[in-house]
Amino acid sequence: MPVYSAEAVVLRKVDYGEADRILTIFTRERGKLPAIAKAVRRAKSRMSGQLDVFSHGHMLLAEGKRMDVVTQFQRITRGGGLAADLPRAAAAAVVVEVADKVLEERHPQPELFEMIVGAIGHLNDPEINPRMELSDFLMRVLVELGYAPALGECARCGKLLSSDEQSKNASGTEQSKNPSGTAATGLGFSPLAGGVICVDCNLAESPSPAISTRAVKILRVCAAGDRDLFFRLRLDEDDLAALEGALEAQLEHHLDRQLKSIDFARKVRRPA
Ligand SMILES: [Zn+2]
Repeated sequence: MPVYSAEAVVLRKVDYGEADRILTIFTRERGKLPAIAKAVRRAKSRMSGQLDVFSHGHMLLAEGKRMDVVTQFQRITRGGGLAADLPRAAAAAVVVEVADKVLEERHPQPELFEMIVGAIGHLNDPEINPRMELSDFLMRVLVELGYAPALGECARCGKLLSSDEQSKNASGTEQSKNPSGTAATGLGFSPLAGGVICVDCNLAESPSPAISTRAVKILRVCAAGDRDLFFRLRLDEDDLAALEGALEAQLEHHLDRQLKSIDFARKVRRPA
C-alpha cells in the first residue's frame, strides 16, 4: 500500500469494532476523506488519546482499498482549551460540522483548510472571544462559498443603504404600514433575498426580521476581513446576538439545513 503524509484535522469520529476508530479527516493535500485508525482505542497504542475530533497534526497514511489507514500522527495544535470549556468546544463543533457539510470528498481546498485550522486554534486560546471567533469563521466561509450577505445595498432592489435608512421610520415622518398592519421598524435581514433589505422593500412585502443599522455596520466590519479591527469592536449581548443570528440564518439557508451543532452552541453560549 502506498504511503503518504498529510497535514490533517479530524472533523468526525466513530468508534468501530473493538478498538478501531473511523475518522473523517480534512487534509491540506487531498481534501476531505474517510480514514481508519486501527487499534487506536487500546491504551498501548502510540496514537491513543491523540486522534479525536479537532485534533490537528501531521499524519502518515497508507492508501487502502476502501479507506486509507492512519499509521502515524503527530499533533500540531493542542486541544486542551476546548476540552475544559463547553462554549468553546461547542463553537469548535460548529466549525467542524460546517466543514464536513461544505467540503467535497477528495477535493483539496487550501483556503478552507487554513480557515478551519485557524478557527480551531483560536477557539483554544482563552484570550479570544469564542462568539466573535465563530462569527468571523462563518463570515469567512460564506465569503469563500460566494454566499456573503449583501450589506452595502438592498438585497432586493439594489439601492445603496445609507446610514440614515432606519431613522426614516423612527422619526415618524413616514407612517406607511406593511400589509399585515403592523408598523415596520426599518431594515430587514433576509437570507432568502441574500442579505439586508432596505426600508422601502421591507414595507412592500411581508417584512423580514428586523436588523438594526448598528448590526449592519458590525456585519460590514466582519465581512471586510480585517480581523484586528473586528476583534477590537466592543460588542454587547444584543450586538453579538444580531451578528450570530444573521450569519447563522444565512449559512443555514444556503446549506439548506439546520445544523445540530449551531443549536447546541446557542444553548451553551456565555452572555456578553
Ligand atoms: Zn430595497
